[in-house]
Amino acid sequence: MAAFALIKVAILLALSLPIVSGLTIYVLESHPGTTEQEACSAADIKKIEEMVDSALKMADETVKALANPDVAKSSAFLSLFGSKAKPADIAAQHYTPILRVLKKPSPIRDLKSIGEHDLVFTCPVEKYEKKAAKVGGVYASTRNWDVAAKKLNLIRIMPLALEADSTIDAVAKEFQAKKTFKEPVPLPFTLIHEAQHSTPIVGVHRVGDQEVGGKKMYGLNQIRNILPEDLKVKNAQNFAWFAMLAVSHSDLLTDDCKGSPAAISRDLSSQEGRLLKFKKRYAAVCKQWPSDDLAAKFKDEVE
Ligand SMILES: [Zn+2]
Repeated sequence: MAAFALIKVAILLALSLPIVSGLTIYVLESHPGTTEQEACSAADIKKIEEMVDSALKMADETVKALANPDVAKSSAFLSLFGSKAKPADIAAQHYTPILRVLKKPSPIRDLKSIGEHDLVFTCPVEKYEKKAAKVGGVYASTRNWDVAAKKLNLIRIMPLALEADSTIDAVAKEFQAKKTFKEPVPLPFTLIHEAQHSTPIVGVHRVGDQEVGGKKMYGLNQIRNILPEDLKVKNAQNFAWFAMLAVSHSDLLTDDCKGSPAAISRDLSSQEGRLLKFKKRYAAVCKQWPSDDLAAKFKDEVE
C-alpha cells in the first residue's frame, strides 16, 4: 500500500513538471588561457543574461497581445504582418517558441562537446569590430547546425550589440515618451530578431532577412511601407519590431485600422458620439503610424 502511494506521488510529480524542450542553452565563458576566439567576459555574460530575461518579457507581452481577437485589425499588426496573417499562427510559430526554449544560459568553457541539441551565445571580437566599422554596425549573427560545414547552433553577439541597453523597460519608456530610442538598438530587440533565424528556437518557421532593391529591410519605414505584404511574415526584423511595440506602444496593438462600421451619432455632444467620431478619425490615420520621421531613424545593419 505504501509502495503504491509512493508510485502515485512520483507519477503526480512527473506530470506536474514543466515540459523540457531538450535544448541546452550555453554561453561561452572566457577564462585565463582560453583558446576560444569568441569567449564572453563576465560583463558580457551579465548583459546576455539580462538580454534573455528581457526578450522573454517581450515575447510574453507579445503572445498576450496576439491572443486579443481584434489584434489583426490593429495598426501594428496590419503594418508589420499584413492583412492575411493570422495572429494565432504568428504567436505559435515565432513567439511561443522563444518562451519555450530560451532560458538563462549555463556557462561553458569550450565548444568541444557542443552538439545538435545545444545553442550557444558567443562574443566575437576583433575581426567583427573591423567589419562593423566598415558596414556601419553588425549587431549579431546566427548560425545553425550543419555537420558538413562544421557549424554549431550559435547566436553570436557582436561588440556593437553589447554596447546597447540589455534590459527593455527603460528603452520602452524612452521610446514611448520621445518616439525614438538611440542606436545601438537594445539587446533584447536583437535577440527577438536572431531567434527568428535560429532553427533550435523556431524550427521550420525560421525566416531570413528580406531585401528590396538590394537593401535589407530593417528600418520601421522599410518594413511598413516598402516590404511587400507577402514578405512581411518572412522578415526577422518585423517580429522584433512588433515585440518592441507590444512593450512600448500597446495602444497600437488594440486600435482598429479597419474602421468601425457604426455610423457616427448625429449627437456629437454625447459621449458615444464623440467616441465614434474619434474612432473613425483614428481608423483613417492609424496606418500612417509611426511617422516617417521616426521610421527614418532605423536603418540598422543586423545580420
Ligand atoms: Zn537577420
